[in-house]
Amino acid sequence: MGGSHNTEILILNAYNNYVDAHIARGVLEEEGIHCWLQDENTLTIDPILTNAVGGIKVMVRKEDAQKAWDILERIKQEQKAAVTCPKCGSHNTEKVSTPRKPMNWLSAITTFFLGEYAIAVDMMHHCFDCGHEFKITEEENNVE
Ligand SMILES: [Zn+2]
Repeated sequence: MGGSHNTEILILNAYNNYVDAHIARGVLEEEGIHCWLQDENTLTIDPILTNAVGGIKVMVRKEDAQKAWDILERIKQEQKAAVTCPKCGSHNTEKVSTPRKPMNWLSAITTFFLGEYAIAVDMMHHCFDCGHEFKITEEENNVE
């Protein structure tokens, strides 16, 4: 097709936590898709700014975007299948974020200036079948 020297970089997805962004990158790299995490440096210096800069963005080349998206969707389905509602046993669940109460003066001040979304979140799962919301203990994922 030509014109490969003029590669466009697109934002594939944005994550509000470091771990999810790194898992996504790890999966994509494993599938042979090169990607970049934007705002990673900002986050490492001051994690509280995550939402202020719109989360950690996963960037891919335009020509890889569709394939990359399909891979992330597949991973999402697999993660979903791995979660079982403790109440009704359904796999029809989704990970949702619940804002956490301010823990210290810094997050309290950040909340004051940036609103609720600047605060770290607790990850909960919502069951679409019975409406139950539950927290699961996520094991340390050493994706190396
Ligand atoms: Zn349920």
